[in-house]
Amino acid sequence: MTNEVALNPAAVLNGVGVEAIIRAEKIEKYYAQPSENRIQVISPTDLSIVPGEIVALLGPSGSGKSTMLRMLTGLSRPSAGQVYWHEKPIADTEINVAIVFQSFALFPWMTVLENVEAPLKARGIAPDERRKRSLKMLDTVGLDGFEGAYPKELSGGMRQRVGFARALVVEPEVLFMDEPFSALDVLTAENLRSELLELWSHKTMPTKAVFIVTHNIEEAVLLADRIIVLGRNPGHIRTDFKVQIPQPRDKKSEPFTQLVDYIYKVLTRPDVTPTEDPAQLQRVRDQRQMKYQMLPHARPGGVAGLLEILLDKAGRDDIYRLADDLAFEIDDLLPIVDAAQLLGFLTIEEGDAVITESGAEFGNSEILRQKELFRTAAIDNVLLLRQIRRALETKSDHTITEEFFLDMLDEQFSEEESLKQIETAVTWGRYAELFDFDAGKRRFMLADAEEESATVEEAK
Ligand code: ADP
Ligand code: MG
Repeated sequence: MTNEVALNPAAVLNGVGVEAIIRAEKIEKYYAQPSENRIQVISPTDLSIVPGEIVALLGPSGSGKSTMLRMLTGLSRPSAGQVYWHEKPIADTEINVAIVFQSFALFPWMTVLENVEAPLKARGIAPDERRKRSLKMLDTVGLDGFEGAYPKELSGGMRQRVGFARALVVEPEVLFMDEPFSALDVLTAENLRSELLELWSHKTMPTKAVFIVTHNIEEAVLLADRIIVLGRNPGHIRTDFKVQIPQPRDKKSEPFTQLVDYIYKVLTRPDVTPTEDPAQLQRVRDQRQMKYQMLPHARPGGVAGLLEILLDKAGRDDIYRLADDLAFEIDDLLPIVDAAQLLGFLTIEEGDAVITESGAEFGNSEILRQKELFRTAAIDNVLLLRQIRRALETKSDHTITEEFFLDMLDEQFSEEESLKQIETAVTWGRYAELFDFDAGKRRFMLADAEEESATVEEAK
């Protein structure tokens, strides 16, 4: 039952089936400006949180995830629209939520125990009861023995455990988390995630729903029963769907990696409208079996730059952190990451871009060698480039029309996308000195016939 309801948000809104704990109706957020134009951060959005699910809110940074969380928890008023708590306007009613933030937000002058007790004190719970519940919760999150420690004496992972204990001790009906694991190292984050899942699945906590904001796709697929993807400018829901993979989930299993792939595609292509239809997944799968890979529209120079930066960071970094550090919009960085991945220069592991051996060699080389390595990688990995090159070598005059390849691409891509594919192929082919393109005559040609064919033979 829950499945059907959540698959169709309209059903939740209509009150069919499960009643929503929190229901947002056409909420939006904008900020006034000195000039008359206001900054629209969230466009009118409907969203419900129903019992029994972990919801992940995914999206690039700046898409309004934190703003959404603040509105859903009553921390911030929507500029328009209304949030309901059990069908009562949130401002007029007692709500029972707790929030875990990325930055721990502990009181530094209080001990661990006092930090956990603080929200109970605020709710007027008697000292004995307070202490009992806090100690029990500290035990649950694995902090037995650290009651008297101060936050500064703890590691990041342990501080976040205190954050969880402090949130859970009030027995919130909905637990909200805003990037709770992103300040932690990979292993600590992994441990805390599985412990959270354990608490949730064994019903150790009375919490009825969990809402987690994250930019980490794997994290969302690992934890969530339902994933909502936000797009930017202004923030809006791009897709909202159920994750049907049973728990515990294996990150290496086919359905897991396919879903990660799908979401990754949704995020890398802000122009494409994903459907809530699970058949979409099938379509992505089919696309993987299609003849031509989709060439990401990135320049070879961008790929080189990315690899150099990654080398600087010991060969590995979180993609979103990378974008932040570079003051890049994630949507601009992702095609470059995609291109590097396609060429075998990097792999994606748990949201991190990890440089490969050939990627490291490429990043460390001077420009001429880089072109050579790019040429080899392109011929080995990119069918379209291989075909153009072969065709040019085969034809006696070493030239061929753009039309010839457009016809083949058209079967798989839209007309517009086929043209873009050719454009990117030209950029890559020119850089790798695989071929040249006469924009006036719309013809491909071998730049320097004799010399080039020798190089390609070598590369093969
Ligand atoms: P996310 O959590 O997805 O990274 P946020 O919700 O923090 O995104 O922010 C969404 C957008 O709202 C950002 O573009 C941010 O610049 C903008 N924003 C946040 N607060 C204000 C404000 N007080 N005035 C104007 N714009 C704001
Ligand atoms: Mg945020």
